Amino acid sequence: MTNNRIRKLRARMKELSLDALLVTALPNIRYLTGFSGSNGLAVVTARRAGFFTDSRYRLQSAGEVKRFTRRITSRPLFDEAAASKLLQGCAAAGFESDAVTYAQFRRLRKAFPRLSLRPVAGLVENIAIVKDSAEIALLARAGKIADAVFRDLCAAIAPGMTELEVAAEISWLVRRHGAERDAFDVIVASGARGALPHARPTRKKLRSGEFVTIDFGATVRGYCSDMARTIAIGRPPARLRAAYAAVQEAHGAALRAAKAGMRASELDAVARTRIAAHRLGKYFTHSLGHGLGLRVHERPRVSALSNEILRAGSVITIEPGVYIPGVGGVRIEDAVVLGGRTSRLLTSSPRELLTLPA
Ligand code: ZN
Ligand code: ZN
Repeated sequence: MTNNRIRKLRARMKELSLDALLVTALPNIRYLTGFSGSNGLAVVTARRAGFFTDSRYRLQSAGEVKRFTRRITSRPLFDEAAASKLLQGCAAAGFESDAVTYAQFRRLRKAFPRLSLRPVAGLVENIAIVKDSAEIALLARAGKIADAVFRDLCAAIAPGMTELEVAAEISWLVRRHGAERDAFDVIVASGARGALPHARPTRKKLRSGEFVTIDFGATVRGYCSDMARTIAIGRPPARLRAAYAAVQEAHGAALRAAKAGMRASELDAVARTRIAAHRLGKYFTHSLGHGLGLRVHERPRVSALSNEILRAGSVITIEPGVYIPGVGGVRIEDAVVLGGRTSRLLTSSPRELLTLPA
């Protein structure tokens, strides 16, 4: 499997006339080598593949890293790579321009004075955009955990709890159900705060007559789930209930339409048109979705501005929302695996409006 990834990467490097690629983005290192720690460097050349880390990760990397020769060092990783024989005979090496700071670039240039260093972007990401069956299985497990967390949360959540207490409950349940951690900081937004798409949970209490939007995910061996639901407490204003109906309709239409071969912008339009038909278009202020994998947000972007064609085996979220300043908001989000004719849901918690007793 990993072999396959390196093979694809080498083919792409050849097209770009790169003799080597220096991989420094941690999710990309994990994707290629299996390493899940916080400090590493992977170097791929036409024939060799080397991995460098420090002594904190001696044991962990021995268990995780396959198919890469491994070196533990106390020196800066670029210097260690330069001192190794790995890059012998290489003239042009790519580095990940969106993962290297200017300070790191200067160190890189110092470590490899004779290499022609070329900024490249998205090489590994472009391979990771289509998931293999092992990855889909992990993403599906992360999705199942999100469903189980939501089910338990519905039994625990009640008016009078603060948003922070709800967030803590979610994080606890995520681990209780077998995930390593939250995939990202849990979002809990109640009442008027629901108009903030990425609200941080606060000490505000959930009150009767409000909507509360929760957005969270679980991580299983690095792979993320990402799900959002909006729940009613008692009877929220008619305007918000109408917004819920519009978002639910848009979400359903996008789910049915989502398939490989279509433009990402076309799928975004399916949901956007529905919401606009309810005269709520100006309140749907973000794109429809994003790719999901080792990163919570990755390619493809599912937005009006994207010119990507959706591919079979990509996993994307579908998350239309309506955010009315001063009033509140609604978002419903699920992830799907794209197929040629239809798509498979990775989360399947109820999407009808759930009402908690006030
Ligand atoms: Zn989300
Ligand atoms: Zn999302």
